[in-house]
Amino acid sequence: MERVGLLGGTFDPIHLGHLRAGLEVYEKLALSKLVFIPAGTPPHKKRRPLSPFSLRYEMTKLAIKDTPYFEVSDIEGRRQGPSYSVLTLEELKTVSKYEFFFILGLDAYLEFDIWYQYQRIPELAHVVVINRGPGGQKEFFEKTRKIFPQAQEKEGIFHLPKGKSLRFLPVTRLDISSTMIREAVKTRKSIQFLVPESVREFIALHKLYLD
Ligand code: ATP
Ligand code: MG
Repeated sequence: MERVGLLGGTFDPIHLGHLRAGLEVYEKLALSKLVFIPAGTPPHKKRRPLSPFSLRYEMTKLAIKDTPYFEVSDIEGRRQGPSYSVLTLEELKTVSKYEFFFILGLDAYLEFDIWYQYQRIPELAHVVVINRGPGGQKEFFEKTRKIFPQAQEKEGIFHLPKGKSLRFLPVTRLDISSTMIREAVKTRKSIQFLVPESVREFIALHKLYLD
């Protein structure tokens, strides 16, 4: 079965932290491709007006266009209502026979138990947690023992009764966030070397994040 990585996010904008992490997971897990999934209406991000889906999707497309094993999906832009990952995974499942690896940063995983039907996510895909922000493997272990007590740990990988797994995968730590990029643009600082050049040009052209 083809092994496919899924990396969701608001990608407002996508940056080199996302892209490098995606590449390293792709290599380490010997995936056949990695799909970036911009969120439609993210359920946990109501604080700030988000850029329209079409712009976040376009930037993601520009960022990956020269990398043959990277793809972008508009699956969450096509669906109404909050972008619950479990629904995205269910929809993907019905149309393919891939083995999915659902990738997220440790910051997101530490809040995993507030996600809609989070228990069902590792029934549909393997879960891969990458380092992001403070903490590492230890925090991943503690959280996993707490929210998936039925999982059996073996050589650092947690196995669930239905056959899926949860693991921590360290990637090169690039301390970049979309928040810091938006802030830099707003204060008229350069975002060169934080995002791909094509994304930097797109942001300037569409005058994003200026206020
Ligand atoms: P924001 O600051 O708006 O929250 P972000 O930089 O955190 O943006 P998201 O779109 O929220 O980007 O992140 C999508 C996914 O990518 C999350 O699972 C997040 O943990 C992960 N991620 C984001 N930035 C990095 C990074 N620099 N290194 C590794 N993983 C990252
Ligand atoms: Mg974030």
